[in-house]
Amino acid sequence: MNWFKRAHIRYILHRHPIAHQQWQDVTEKMAVFQGLTAVEKAHLRELATLFLHEKKLLGVQGQEVTDAMRVVIAALACLPVLGLGFGCLEGWTEVIVYPSAFRVRREERDDAGVVHHQERSLSGESWSRGPLIVSWDDIEQDLRETRSVRNVVIHEIAHKLDMLNGPADGYPPLRYGMPVAAWSTTLSAAYQKLVLRVEHHHRTCIDPYAAANPAEFFAVISEYFFCAPDILHAQFAAVYEQLRLYYRQDPLTRTGRYFT
Ligand code: ZN
Repeated sequence: MNWFKRAHIRYILHRHPIAHQQWQDVTEKMAVFQGLTAVEKAHLRELATLFLHEKKLLGVQGQEVTDAMRVVIAALACLPVLGLGFGCLEGWTEVIVYPSAFRVRREERDDAGVVHHQERSLSGESWSRGPLIVSWDDIEQDLRETRSVRNVVIHEIAHKLDMLNGPADGYPPLRYGMPVAAWSTTLSAAYQKLVLRVEHHHRTCIDPYAAANPAEFFAVISEYFFCAPDILHAQFAAVYEQLRLYYRQDPLTRTGRYFT
């Protein structure tokens, strides 16, 4: 990072701080932030400040976006990049907040070349260089539960990270020194295992939505990594290890501090 950029960041952090009380409310009341150390919280606050300065948060369909909501969304969006740096969140500028799950219409071509018109209800969506789209209802629901395994913002940010090196395929750019073979072998094996269980209608400890495709697998296991690391570790220890190396965080070490 050059001198000018560093100076600009210092200026933003100084001129646009998140109000102390608002930050306390978010990080002390939400389970997902409870186990962070004071140093991690301070770093997360800096990232969230940059996020709010660089991204425009827009409410649609009558959804009001209050300052408190902005801080919640920014803190959740920045948690996955705590060890990766803010650069991973650059290249897009908008967060669109729907009041609740929103409907999208898509055209999808099947293997035979037939185009199907589909209408689906989504709680979040993200596009490579486009906006991050989330439903406030879903965020609130995740926050209300003290032991939620889901988090729509973390899910969509995982898709964003995945798309940093091309289409979403469950293979984000890995940090230097992480062998690609270890990542793909480990995640593919776990994904195939999950797909088989879902196909045979067996109970799964991970949300079966993760079996939709490798991109959804990566996004869903990322949610578990941050929100329920003990479940992910118990089910797929090797996958947890790959995510620990990738995200450069170890949420399992936080569990003793808040999963009692
Ligand atoms: Zn998804």
